[in-house]
Amino acid sequence: MSQAQSDIRLVGVTKRFQNLLAVDSVDLTVDVGEVVCLLGPSGCGKTTTLRMIAGLENATSGDILIAGRRVNELPARARNVAMTFQFYALYPSLTVEENLAYPLHADRLSRAAIAERIAQVARVLDLETILKRRPHQLGEGEKQRVAVGRSIVRQPTCFLFDEPLSRLDIQLRQQMRTQIKEVLERLDKPTVIVTHDQIEALTMADRIAVMRDGRIEQVATPHDLFAYPTNVFVAGFIGTPQMNLVPATLEATAEEEGATRARFAVLGEQFSAPVEAAVRRLAPGAKVTLGVRPRSFELAPPDAADVVHASIDLIEPMGAEMLVHLVRQGQDLRCVLAHTARVRLGQEVGVRCKPNQLHVFDEAGSLVR
Ligand code: ATP
Repeated sequence: MSQAQSDIRLVGVTKRFQNLLAVDSVDLTVDVGEVVCLLGPSGCGKTTTLRMIAGLENATSGDILIAGRRVNELPARARNVAMTFQFYALYPSLTVEENLAYPLHADRLSRAAIAERIAQVARVLDLETILKRRPHQLGEGEKQRVAVGRSIVRQPTCFLFDEPLSRLDIQLRQQMRTQIKEVLERLDKPTVIVTHDQIEALTMADRIAVMRDGRIEQVATPHDLFAYPTNVFVAGFIGTPQMNLVPATLEATAEEEGATRARFAVLGEQFSAPVEAAVRRLAPGAKVTLGVRPRSFELAPPDAADVVHASIDLIEPMGAEMLVHLVRQGQDLRCVLAHTARVRLGQEVGVRCKPNQLHVFDEAGSLVR
């Protein structure tokens, strides 16, 4: 099957529950071998989107295509997708091998064909030495791999996971998300994972679709989401500690040695910084929001040029780093410094953004780029 024929494609997919618009005209393509995470706050429509792909919910309008075929009218079973709500649904009285064979019984395969499928899955997931054990004789990681095995053994066209790791403790989660990523990479099918945990999305996804109020705000690689958040919502949602978003006014722009520099009025002070050339499109006096990640701030002597003056309000140790809360005109500025930085509560400091790490959003909240 060619790549174009095996992907998942959503075109203008919408879901209404009575008066509630749960999913609003979503367009999304998930390629073969690609893992896309749907990420967003509670109630933004992630699970409903996944359930529509699986056939557990009917779309109100729009097209859902799997492997090039419109599946809106197909019942869940006929879509041949593997949907895993959470792992661990293993039958305790069956061996690993029997657990893996279970989903195949409805398919009327020969014994030899079943054995071959199991051997194949066991090879991919490294289960060959534990096929005769029962779930209570397995470690947590092994149980998880068997559960994944059960969902792939029927050779589905795609994989759908709803909060797959939410039941696990933190340590196991960390281990699992890298393992799952490795396994999914070997399967060469499109995969959609719903999660509200951004670390999970950042580690497992090739691309992340950030959702809000039923809409996709941005679909991008983890790196691009972090470096070029398309609007203030995505900017504030991705990255911890959260990006600082500070209201400001653009005063002027100028060209200097081929680069664009802008002067802003912010928190009662003025400073200038290099910016994307696109900022020149904004008129002087334009209201903007400046976005600075906490790790993009650096302290500077208070009498240095282009600094904002603030006082240290709170220091939170974070191991090798510390999260320093600065305050200026009632605005909290979060700043991550090395734990060795010499700072104390109440101290007056100058703070500035490291070069080329300033994000400028226009009055509507869109990234200027
Ligand atoms: P969470 O992370 O909390 O699961 P989510 O992003 O997955 O949230 P959905 O479960 O898709 O969000 O829900 C989207 C919206 O649709 C919510 O407002 C929810 O209350 C509503 N909703 C979901 N299912 C139904 C239903 N069967 N009937 C009515 N409203 C529903």
